[in-house]
Amino acid sequence: MNASLPPGLYIVATPIGNLGDLSPRAAQTLRGASLILAEDKRVSAKLLAHTGATAPMWTYHDHSSEADRDAVLARLANEAVALISDAGTPLISDPGYKLVRAARVAGHQVHTIPGPCAAVAALTLAGLPTDRFLFVGFLPAKAKARGEAIAEIASIRASLVLYESGPRLGEALLALRDGLGSRDAAVVREISKLHEECRTGTLAELADRYAGAAPKGEIVIVVGPPPEREAASDEELDAALQAALTSMTASRAAAHVAELLNLPRKRVYARALTLGPDR
Ligand code: SAM
Repeated sequence: MNASLPPGLYIVATPIGNLGDLSPRAAQTLRGASLILAEDKRVSAKLLAHTGATAPMWTYHDHSSEADRDAVLARLANEAVALISDAGTPLISDPGYKLVRAARVAGHQVHTIPGPCAAVAALTLAGLPTDRFLFVGFLPAKAKARGEAIAEIASIRASLVLYESGPRLGEALLALRDGLGSRDAAVVREISKLHEECRTGTLAELADRYAGAAPKGEIVIVVGPPPEREAASDEELDAALQAALTSMTASRAAAHVAELLNLPRKRVYARALTLGPDR
């Protein structure tokens, strides 16, 4: 063990395709750890050989049990333990949050060594708004659940970032087109590798492009936010309110129409009072 590395849990980000992206601090931490938790020991062996890390590896993945976590906790008091995933930042669509929580509850130090993350790297390539984004991770594989998951996020005013695999890309783009309309989007592939690629277009164009043509490699889909609605005119407001007032009180009609037309509720309520049965 490297005596300069104090005991605790170290979350270490590793490359997503290009070994050159391993930070010096990540390499130093892996060399200094006395135990390395890896999702798949065979996958991580190459990286550890590259860094010169010689600590033993334990498997830690989504199916690790509470007993597995307890065994790790027992080591944390006196030793530096590093957590890595197959690639990128641990905990981002990868295991680890339960271990971080348990380590903190048990009073151990938790440190992060930040680095590559496919979601953030894809955002930097897509050329879509980055001021607000929602990381969606993987959509469900089954069509019904996938449609429901997309409907749930359709009105969120932010860019969306999704992880996907080549064989499912075509279906996912069709479902996104159907659920979100034809927003601007990007399919980002093989980031930091030889065949890195970013294709942009509307969801409809990208769905056509990839229909029945599964690309190879690892993929992130980035979808731009929904288009800004033009402000509703007074005539549109009155028409929507009159329709709502046939079955609702002024207050409920105002809430419904304010949401529908994206208008301030106060203004809509004031107008409803001049039109509705409660006036
Ligand atoms: N923890 C990782 C991270 O920080 O990005 C993500 C792990 S998740 C299990 C794996 C998914 O990340 C892949 O299916 C793909 O969607 C995306 N991904 C990972 N590496 C990538 C790369 N080099 N290019 C594009 N997408 C990548």
